[in-house]
Amino acid sequence: MTALLSVRGLKTHFPVRAGALRRTVGQIRAVDGVDLDIMPGETLGLVGESGCGKSTLGRSILRLIEPTAGQVIFDGIDVATLDARRMKAIRRDLQIIFQDPVGSLNPRMHVGDIVGEGLHANGVRSRAERDHRIKEILAAVGLDASAAGRFPHEFSGGQRQRIGIARALVLRPKLIVADEPVSALDVSVQSQVLNLLAALRQQFSLTYLFVAHDLAVVDYMSDRVAVMYLGRVVEVGTARQIRTNPLHPYTRALLSAVPGRERQRIVLSGEVPSPLTPPSGCRFRTRCPMAQEICARVEPALDAHPSGARVACHLSH
Ligand code: SF4
Repeated sequence: MTALLSVRGLKTHFPVRAGALRRTVGQIRAVDGVDLDIMPGETLGLVGESGCGKSTLGRSILRLIEPTAGQVIFDGIDVATLDARRMKAIRRDLQIIFQDPVGSLNPRMHVGDIVGEGLHANGVRSRAERDHRIKEILAAVGLDASAAGRFPHEFSGGQRQRIGIARALVLRPKLIVADEPVSALDVSVQSQVLNLLAALRQQFSLTYLFVAHDLAVVDYMSDRVAVMYLGRVVEVGTARQIRTNPLHPYTRALLSAVPGRERQRIVLSGEVPSPLTPPSGCRFRTRCPMAQEICARVEPALDAHPSGARVACHLSH
């Protein structure tokens, strides 16, 4: 099967400027050479601590942030090279659900106009046709048709996220980047929104890149999981393999922090290093309980493991 999305060597660096002349004095390497594949109909979870580059990666794939280098092959087309006109045409197939359901919805627009904006921008000129599709998608996310005539502030956090999901879905995209879609919600409504996303995946034959810092949430939603640390993917495997046989020391530490696991908690020392000056060799070495002398000299590649996973660690092969 051919991947719906293939990311190759993707880098997104942000220049750091200083002085009166605003000279570039360094680069924040938020995403620093990522390879990923997502199959049609698959949910790939992307997990890592805050600041690891996972949200920047999701947004770079959609070109909401311009990547510095690399390829983003979507449905056979390298979207990283498209001009604005062709990118606009392909964007209907590539949508995003944002973390913050309050900040991402214009408070002065009716919900119907928020959800229908994409339809108008993509040439659905008939008001009746737009209204019909808005009503249909509101029903699919569990909202009454009357929601179209109300403002975002009239809804709860969970309902606002449903509006954000409706906006992402109304153009019937192929791939959705769900960027921490439940982390701003009360725990009591998180599972409802996760179950809705899972049901919509079936109903609309969606493919998800599901970005979250919570490994338990990612495990629940995903077929495969990619673990990210300081701008690089350090392990990719099936959700089951990551859950039962994590190979990378960082994945093991993340897993040990999931409540209810019997594994002994692995507490990582120190902070995540700055992506401005990542450590030499393995980027995890400054916090890794297993680090050896080679880890400072040689950066481990994301190599295939006999289990079928891919892992970037000198000691995991
Ligand atoms: Fe730890 Fe070395 Fe493996 Fe990096 S390569 S995760 S420092 S053992």
